[in-house]
Amino acid sequence: MIGLRRLFIIVLCWTRRMCVQSEDSFLRCTRRHRLKIVNVIHPISAIVLLGVIGFTLVYEVMYVGPEILGSSGCLYWLGCLFAGFVIFNILGNWWLSFKTDTTVNSLPAEQQTPAEGEAHLWHYCIACDRLVPPRSWHCRLCQGCMLKRDHHCTISGSCIGHKNQRYFICFLFHLTLGCGSALVFNGIYAWKTGSIMTADPIMLFFKMSDYSKDVDLDWKYTISIIFKLNMFLFVIALFMFCVQILMVHRNSTCYKILDRSYDLGWRRNFEGVLGKQLFWTLLSPTIISPLTNDGTKWFVKQHV
Ligand SMILES: [Zn+2]
Ligand SMILES: [Zn+2]
Repeated sequence: MIGLRRLFIIVLCWTRRMCVQSEDSFLRCTRRHRLKIVNVIHPISAIVLLGVIGFTLVYEVMYVGPEILGSSGCLYWLGCLFAGFVIFNILGNWWLSFKTDTTVNSLPAEQQTPAEGEAHLWHYCIACDRLVPPRSWHCRLCQGCMLKRDHHCTISGSCIGHKNQRYFICFLFHLTLGCGSALVFNGIYAWKTGSIMTADPIMLFFKMSDYSKDVDLDWKYTISIIFKLNMFLFVIALFMFCVQILMVHRNSTCYKILDRSYDLGWRRNFEGVLGKQLFWTLLSPTIISPLTNDGTKWFVKQHV
């Protein structure tokens, strides 16, 4: 048991060291290549996301759906409706996480300076040359201080913070739901067409199957590759969603993921991010859900 505990501590220390090193490299990189990241990587990420969604929609609606649900029945149209709902939520939340301004400048003028007796809680940002609220941090890419900054997101091309984290979480939820549903359908389709293992490198390496007489080999190969890529995307989306939920549950942020100083209980923590409507926000990005905090005052656990 002591050996196992020692191993666990070593892995934890190593992970933390890796995180610190990669954060240092990221900061160095953003300092040197800010314009390239903003003008090239952000648009490419957006194009890749739109491309993947478009391709998946066409593939599911034209090939997978008709094969599994029938081509014109009620089930098929219900499937299309579900796909439309998920895509609307993915794109809507993605767009609003990009468009919502979460900088300190987005606050009303009177809230941009500390209230009487609260100046000691604020800290000075050298880049902005001003005092900023607790939990706000400067982003070199966005060139501004973000309220309760979580991280800079390349996919949405913006910082995720106090005002837009709701949209980012809903985006990840629907991305996971979309990838998960597509995975089930693609898995059934690959199984039914006998192509699930067609592109498997182990099978090909050991020549475990004779594909020489298969006239549909190219199509089966495509189905198999799409299924495996789908599996990969699902794991990434699920992982990112779970990390976000873990952080909101603790009221922490990406850079201080284990910090529970602001933990006010799960309900208040989630209300602080999703707003008063809580999980109803998962139904649509257009649902109005006011936040319970203006982003400048944060209660520390022992003061509650
Ligand atoms: Zn700043
Ligand atoms: Zn940023």
